[in-house]
Amino acid sequence: MTKKTTPPKQSIGNSHFLHEACQALGYDEQVFALLAGASREFKVQLPLLCDDGSLKIFYGYRVQHHNALGPYKGGLRFHPSVDMQEAHTLAALMSLKTALVKVPFGGAKGGINCDPRSLSRRELESLTRAFVEKIHRGIGPNLDIPAPDVGTNEQVMAWIQDEYSKIYGYTLGVVTGKPILIGGSQGRTEATGTGVAIVMQQHARHQAQKLEGKTVVIQGFGNVGTHCANAFKRLGMKVIAISDSKGALFDEAGLDLHAICQHREKGKPVSTYPQARQISNQDLLKLPCDFLVPAAMGNVIDGKTAREIKAKVVVEAANSPTTFEGDQVLMERGIPVLPDILANAGGVIVSYFEWVQNMQQMPWEKNQITEQLTTKLSKASDEVFAVATGKQCSYRQAAYLIATQRLRDAVATVTI
Ligand code: GLU
Repeated sequence: MTKKTTPPKQSIGNSHFLHEACQALGYDEQVFALLAGASREFKVQLPLLCDDGSLKIFYGYRVQHHNALGPYKGGLRFHPSVDMQEAHTLAALMSLKTALVKVPFGGAKGGINCDPRSLSRRELESLTRAFVEKIHRGIGPNLDIPAPDVGTNEQVMAWIQDEYSKIYGYTLGVVTGKPILIGGSQGRTEATGTGVAIVMQQHARHQAQKLEGKTVVIQGFGNVGTHCANAFKRLGMKVIAISDSKGALFDEAGLDLHAICQHREKGKPVSTYPQARQISNQDLLKLPCDFLVPAAMGNVIDGKTAREIKAKVVVEAANSPTTFEGDQVLMERGIPVLPDILANAGGVIVSYFEWVQNMQQMPWEKNQITEQLTTKLSKASDEVFAVATGKQCSYRQAAYLIATQRLRDAVATVTI
């Protein structure tokens, strides 16, 4: 596989990686167009009567990429950056992720262009329920199954399930990542973070290296970042820096994560914790460390930042944190990247287990979840490492080769 590639003329979101895989697999431009585009998209207007009596207009989006391998599946994001373009990029990424780790789902993504932190609980609930009112015909346990993503959580999933159930009768399995009390799964909240650590362990085995004592920098300390940090701590690794949207914290000796979480529980931003050095979010990305784990928003590692990264390995806990140019720079500099569609797939894998439990009307024990998550992710990691070694390409290129071929074959059996 060549290192440089010509970007596609008609680029849909960040489809360069997909285009590169299609070229390497010898697929023509029509197959690329088929896989890069989505089968369906929704945009709905959501007027919200705010607590202060004012009216605000938001927009809700859902892009359903492909369902050849199973019902559409993917998160709902509540963030001001949400738009159709972002939903397209992330929906395609979901299709590749589910194909790579072999869960019988397609890919979708969506959300609302709101800042949930600026809304009251009542406002958030009414906005969520209004969204379901508008898109309920497009979702369902065998059609499209939303899950948490940036800015959403199990409470939002509970409102969605409840609103949907008002129309169709009690429906388990219309969302995953919901509270355990109403059909959620053991281990779902921490699944993405746990999965990141499983992939890193498998990578360390593959490299005949130990993770114990290794230093980690985590960008973002939301659900994914927090559970990554906990899992790394259990593996004896040293988390030396973390951040939130307001700033970052650094301590060469290792951060006291427990104390930082207590600080956050008091409603204070992580970056104001006094017992560590405060640095900027941009400086955090440039810290010397064994592993840099972007666990927040997309496109944080562009070409310029990639030239300044001093980490030995980049692990993508977030979706699409590295731009195509950033990826090329990291490749040229010999910095391996454990790509998003592998590294953060723990979330959707346990979502799949949750959906199976819902369909079976039978909860599983936590150890069953952990065991099967470990098996699935370790197998997918081994496949990626084997292809990367065999083809002398990056882990991302290998992951895309496997996923693109699987997706193309499934789509071909029903479409072409
Ligand atoms: N939002 C997560 C992701 O991007 C989970 C999706 C899901 O569980 O459906 O992978």
